[in-house]
Amino acid sequence: MALTWNRTVDWDADAWRNEAACRNAEPDLFFPIGSTGLAVDQIDAAKRVCDACEASSACLDFALATNQESGVWGGTSEDERRKLRKAWLAARRRNLAEQREREMQAESA
Ligand code: SF4
Repeated sequence: MALTWNRTVDWDADAWRNEAACRNAEPDLFFPIGSTGLAVDQIDAAKRVCDACEASSACLDFALATNQESGVWGGTSEDERRKLRKAWLAARRRNLAEQREREMQAESA
């Protein structure tokens, strides 16, 4: 059986990476090792860059959609994103179910 890829998210919608405030930042800043000690200052510094980033919302959407587990994305830490992803997945499932329902109603009308 062949594996298939169900790509339901447009990862590069609006080319958000072009607006990324971190394009010229030190990549290590956004990928601290751990979440305690010196990493706390690193995470805070990365989040300050994100605060001024015009692509923050799209970046976070991308990170949630593609389950980016490491690093700072869209102004969120790994722990914060883990919690957000549960809510994001639930909302996504709800939206897909509602969309399916509307399509079925349109077909039966
Ligand atoms: S929100 Fe942060 S991690 Fe995402 S593109 Fe902007 S600066 Fe980079």
